[in-house]
Amino acid sequence: MDIEILRVLQSILHYSLHFLAPGIIGFIFFRSQWKRAWIIMVATMIIDLDHLLATPIFDPTRCSVGFHPLHSYYAIAAYLLLLLFKKSRIIAVGLLFHIVTDWQDCYWSGFITLYGK
Ligand SMILES: [Zn+2]
Repeated sequence: MDIEILRVLQSILHYSLHFLAPGIIGFIFFRSQWKRAWIIMVATMIIDLDHLLATPIFDPTRCSVGFHPLHSYYAIAAYLLLLLFKKSRIIAVGLLFHIVTDWQDCYWSGFITLYGK
């Protein structure tokens, strides 16, 4: 398959999941305050600041999950704990969905490496 088309599809999916999906999640699960929930969930993207600690800062072949400190399994465990409290629940859903988004991206990268030409 054409590697450029695969990369474009990967980016469209990645950024849709980062920006649009939180709106849908907010509308379904936090209906009374869905716009606020959407903004909060998009704001969880701040954890990507941990990429600044890595060299190189951006590497398309590297999987963020399990690599960067705020994408580590310890961090994910902390995000799961935040789910338990009503006050931090929206943040926790945003953080965990962010991790799922980055994680599915790792499979795209593997797929493109295998089948992209
Ligand atoms: Zn990330």
